[in-house]
Amino acid sequence: MTKLHIFSDFDGTITEKDTLVFLATHLGGGAEMVEAIGRLIVEGRMSLRDATIAEMGSIRRPFSDAVNLLRERVRIDAGFIQFARWIEGRKIPLTVLSAGFHQFIDLFISRDEFPHIEILANSIRPDEELGWQCEFRDETHWGHDKARHLEEARRRGEYVIFIGDGLSDRAAAEIADEVFAKHSLAEYCRERGINCHEYQTFTEILKQLQSRF
Ligand SMILES: [Mg+2]
Repeated sequence: MTKLHIFSDFDGTITEKDTLVFLATHLGGGAEMVEAIGRLIVEGRMSLRDATIAEMGSIRRPFSDAVNLLRERVRIDAGFIQFARWIEGRKIPLTVLSAGFHQFIDLFISRDEFPHIEILANSIRPDEELGWQCEFRDETHWGHDKARHLEEARRRGEYVIFIGDGLSDRAAAEIADEVFAKHSLAEYCRERGINCHEYQTFTEILKQLQSRF
């Protein structure tokens, strides 16, 4: 049988809220700034990368404030743990691809509990004077070209499944063999005629996959 490889976005996909938007709203420039940036992105006047730099740069707080707030107020999808355990049992590779930051992801997906999950994300350097500084993986508009990892997997002959919800997931959705999408990514797939499963929770994705693999 063809080897499966599952790739998933993190913010808004594995978590119910986007951790960057959440932190910029509560610890940084506030809701108005975040909304203004959101409009610029939608209008195509600001890249996701520049938006992320602006949002993170508006935070001048110690990292521990973010840790406390994220742990208190952001939840992961209720079905994700069971999904991750099933993947592990079946020895299916799972890679989390994020245009966000691994320091936030580590709070929700513990490396000790889930050593089989590969996490590829950008890095944040909290700076209370200059504002938090972003270290991106590459030079693309998203600061992390997710599609490249899917291309490599396909070149290795793997059957690639991608799970996502937003803007930085579009190019990956275009080249995946199969897509699970929600929110704006589902709309994008509909508009572009990209075949996708529209989903709400990882429990649905798990059921789908268990019936076939
Ligand atoms: Mg997302």
